[in-house]
Amino acid sequence: MNQTYKFQNGNSKSVNQTISKNLKEAFKQQAFTKGNLFQTNGSMKQPKNELLNSLPTSDLQNLLPLLELVRLDKSEYIYQPDDLIHSLYFPETAIVSEYQILENGKTIELSMIGREGIVGASSVFNSNYSRNWSQVLIPGNAYRINSKAFEQETNSNEVIKKVFFNFINLYISQISQRIICNNHHTVEERLCLWLLMINERCDNESLPLTQEQIANFLGTYRPSITVITQTLRQQGLIDSLRGKIIILDKENLKKMSCDCYSMIKDRKIQ
Ligand SMILES: [Zn+2]
Repeated sequence: MNQTYKFQNGNSKSVNQTISKNLKEAFKQQAFTKGNLFQTNGSMKQPKNELLNSLPTSDLQNLLPLLELVRLDKSEYIYQPDDLIHSLYFPETAIVSEYQILENGKTIELSMIGREGIVGASSVFNSNYSRNWSQVLIPGNAYRINSKAFEQETNSNEVIKKVFFNFINLYISQISQRIICNNHHTVEERLCLWLLMINERCDNESLPLTQEQIANFLGTYRPSITVITQTLRQQGLIDSLRGKIIILDKENLKKMSCDCYSMIKDRKIQ
């Protein structure tokens, strides 16, 4: 059975009831400003975001007054489909997942963006409304910038434009590879890849993820994830405590992963 939900921009969307719980949760958290501001602009130390960090000092200094450091909470929705993209985010320690929800309620993750990138990049190309769900996968910090201000900087500064376009190439590569991965590789391979991708973006072996979340983001069912995580535990590759996955043996996790790991990793920003 379908229900109709009204978005803040006035659009309506008919969705299957199986995902209504997630949507209601999303609306509870929906606010015009995503992320809790805890540092005013102009006082940034060396940023941990790789895009910002790759800018020459003078260009970074120009951006500084436009940036605000915010905290992105676990499971917070940054954008929902049809949301106007007010702000873009340069994650430092946070990781944001972009995904779609299918008619049957299953989710398919399209990309994850951490400190290597920027969330909301499509707005620079006159695509002002979000196409996908963007949700905080791993809580942490990010620098927030007004989307119009960033568009102006990108159009007027060749260095920023180049860095930004490099990321867009990386982003498209990731989505392309994930499409191949979702269609051709086993859930076990995809889980290993996914854990490695998260670990790489937050440098943390202890990941706050439940089996249900993992199943949702990989577009599969929890029992499959339970079986696979048990196998990986028995092999000493990971451990799982309540609401956490702990990576114990990254090298063997890479061996268990599909080739997509090296394909995505080798296309890092030059
Ligand atoms: Zn793969």
